[in-house]
Amino acid sequence: MKTEASRLFDELNTRYWGGRLPRYRVIQRADLGCWGLCDNARRTILLAPHPSREALRLTLLHEMCHIGTGPGYGHGPRFLRKLRRLIELGETALHEEDLERYDGTVVERHIAAAKVAGTLLPEVPFRDMLKSDIEDLAASNLDLRLRWPRVARALAQQYKMSVPQLRRVAPWAEREWRRQRGEARELQRAEARFRSRSADSTTSACPVPGGPGPGSSRRWPPRSQGVQRSRTCCTSSRTCPV
Ligand SMILES: [Zn+2]
Repeated sequence: MKTEASRLFDELNTRYWGGRLPRYRVIQRADLGCWGLCDNARRTILLAPHPSREALRLTLLHEMCHIGTGPGYGHGPRFLRKLRRLIELGETALHEEDLERYDGTVVERHIAAAKVAGTLLPEVPFRDMLKSDIEDLAASNLDLRLRWPRVARALAQQYKMSVPQLRRVAPWAEREWRRQRGEARELQRAEARFRSRSADSTTSACPVPGGPGPGSSRRWPPRSQGVQRSRTCCTSSRTCPV
């Protein structure tokens, strides 16, 4: 028997995609660690319990926009195009909570407000934000082996600039990416060593389901959400306390 979430998937697929989206399983899980997650490899969408059916429906629409966007930066131009189309078709609630979160508007607004408040030192906050984004991408995309050109495109998109502009304002970014990627890989290797040692012992350490994932970061600004093994974990301020 179909769950309510599966029925909702079918309903939205028919309404907005003419039923052309491939069949995905939609599973609700209490221990997800983020609000929604689209696993394109397994054709599965996972949803955490939401405070209302409408909030769940909006997260499901967000996750459905991830279908067919391929691996890599999960909230890139293809994803944003799909989101914009839904907004044009009347899903206006997706504008503030989803589109502006990922198209750079939120960051822009923050910078503008900081300028007005006089708390923005030119260059420094941007540098910190960009470094934080790079760190995130490096930490959460280990398995995808993202290369710099793709990362540069994602970052440029995030800050509403072209790649050459990004290169001009942050000539250090590629070097930082390589450094962060190296550190992230080293950390991954150390974790793997720790896990294999734990597996040998009688008291094996298991990863805690629903533990802090790429989508559970508490830092600001909201950044490119992490992608792990083609699973895109999304947080939305709709229900997120951040
Ligand atoms: Zn997402």
